[in-house]
Amino acid sequence: MGFFDSIKNFKNKLDQVESSVYSGRQSLLEVYERNAKLEAEIKLRTKELDRANRQMLTLQHIWDMMNSSKPLSSVLNAIVNSLQGDLGYLFSFIVKQVSDDTGTYLQVVASSGKDADLKINNMFLQYFNCDLSDYRMQFPDINELQDAVKNNKIYQSQDLLNLVCGFVPAFKRERVAAFLKDANIKSYILVPLTSKQVHFGSLLVFSSREDIGSNELNFLSLFAKQIELAITIADLFQAVKEQAITDGMTGLYNRRYFEEFIKKEAIRSERQKQKFTVIGLDLDHLKQINDVYGHNYGDIAIKAIAEVLKSNARSIDVAARMGGEEFNLILPGVDSAGGLVAAERIRKAIEAVELEKIGRITASLGVATYLEHSDDIEELLELTDQAMYESKRNGRNRVTLAKPAYETSWQEIAVNTFIDILSKHRIPMDEETSALLTRKLQEMNINNEKLYQVADALVTSYNPEHAEGGVKEKVQLASLLAKRFDLSKEDVDKLKIAVLLYDIGNTMLPRELLRKKEPLTEDDKLSIKQHPVIAAREILKPISNVVDIIPIIEKHHENWNGTGYPNRIAGDEIPIESQIILIIDSYFALLEKRPYREAMSKEEALKIIEEEADQKWSDKLAKEFIGIVRNDLG
Ligand code: GH3
Ligand code: MG
Repeated sequence: MGFFDSIKNFKNKLDQVESSVYSGRQSLLEVYERNAKLEAEIKLRTKELDRANRQMLTLQHIWDMMNSSKPLSSVLNAIVNSLQGDLGYLFSFIVKQVSDDTGTYLQVVASSGKDADLKINNMFLQYFNCDLSDYRMQFPDINELQDAVKNNKIYQSQDLLNLVCGFVPAFKRERVAAFLKDANIKSYILVPLTSKQVHFGSLLVFSSREDIGSNELNFLSLFAKQIELAITIADLFQAVKEQAITDGMTGLYNRRYFEEFIKKEAIRSERQKQKFTVIGLDLDHLKQINDVYGHNYGDIAIKAIAEVLKSNARSIDVAARMGGEEFNLILPGVDSAGGLVAAERIRKAIEAVELEKIGRITASLGVATYLEHSDDIEELLELTDQAMYESKRNGRNRVTLAKPAYETSWQEIAVNTFIDILSKHRIPMDEETSALLTRKLQEMNINNEKLYQVADALVTSYNPEHAEGGVKEKVQLASLLAKRFDLSKEDVDKLKIAVLLYDIGNTMLPRELLRKKEPLTEDDKLSIKQHPVIAAREILKPISNVVDIIPIIEKHHENWNGTGYPNRIAGDEIPIESQIILIIDSYFALLEKRPYREAMSKEEALKIIEEEADQKWSDKLAKEFIGIVRNDLG
């Protein structure tokens, strides 16, 4: 073989190798492509499965709700929250149109972030100072939107500015635009919701993407079906629950029946001039039983109490489980002496029960009689409750007769009001702290010092500059001033309670706002001014003992010359109690450091009080105030 032949041969071989490498690469490429396709398909399937799975979970939520009787709102919050994170959804909420005597508005029924910490919620708070649900929202005046709701059609748009400004016309457009940009919201989708063929409200979803394909709209429609299902089931469940008059666990009457019955009994009682007695009962140390032996044994203890009540009740008595470990008994035709005997018999019977593992249990009881302690049902039940707490305070396993309302000291009213506020979670405070404070309150002997300690702690929770002992000084000042204005003892007592509670609404202000270092904006100021007054009303309204002080609190920012808020009333239109609170509050605020100014000395503060005489407060009030601070308090 010549040289050229061997070269040619070599080249042929090279070609062969090359072509086989090429075809090999070809088949490798095919394999790769096939794998990629498969992978994509698997991804898609997984996603579908995942989605189906989550839909199942949503259903699971609904069933859980039915079993735990969680309120619909928390189920809806959970459902709405489950939308977040996927597909670039930033935020969603459900609104419902409601009407009351003040007009028609949109109510936020559920929103994402309610039970989770969403960045966008904090951003909203920064831009607008409040939660969306704090505003009275309007349905936006956008034809397409209204058509969508009317025709029950899903609707998407990128015109967010008009949507948000339509919801809250008070928002400034530039601010909304800045917020939308900052939050990266590009489009929204509205899905009308119906329950039992009736329009219920709408789901609104805010997305970081402009392009919403038809598949995605389908997905959201399906999602909305879950919500509709939850609403329908909750309605049905509610209807069933409303028909029930007994408590499933004990067979005693439930709270609803009790409330109906006591109303009728009060009418009958007044007509026939015949008293009836209420016994309130609370199992002692149930938490301990739960902790040591488990919840099942706690339930056993509750059932044991129910059995004692059943066997001790006459056929005309009504024994009800009000919830948890709390029971009430109505004894028609029985006065307080008879009520005490019955309560003592029940207490002994409970003490005598011997339970497996747990051993003995005890209960604390309170007794109050209609037409004897009060002729108002709300008040009667509160007095029963207070008597029961008195039993707890005095060592448990005992019976206490209520004190008539007019004999209750202002300190007792204050303590019971604090217990009510804390234990019924009327203010946002973490459960542990509020449980701890409640327990302290329940157990303490009512004396001024301890009461002031709790009041100081509460004020400090929203005002870090608050000085220990400040509440006590304020109450003393108020009471000295009140005497100069000839207030009756009853009114002075009301004023003292008002001094403890007038700023309670501050607990509802966003923390960021209270701690803000920069000077406050106009919006900030507006929110600080108005929010607490509204909140105080909401917090205190359900507590019948203190409804009288709400008007005092509501007017404690009105100025003598009519430049205050919220109603710009002037002079004697402002209750003297409110005037007194204003001057005391202003004085103590001047003594405290603020992020934007130093604390003032007593004399500097008094000088300002003097300067503002005839403007913020009357001349007389300023003079009396300055006199008292200089002379009486030293
Ligand atoms: P006190 O003597 O002061 O009444 O103490 P307590 O532990 O009974 O009262 P507290 O109010 O601190 O706690 C009540 C506990 O009862 C907390 C709650 O979890 C539990 N509880 C409420 N309802 C039920 C129920 O239906 N079953 C069980 N096992 N526990 C319940
Ligand atoms: Mg208890």
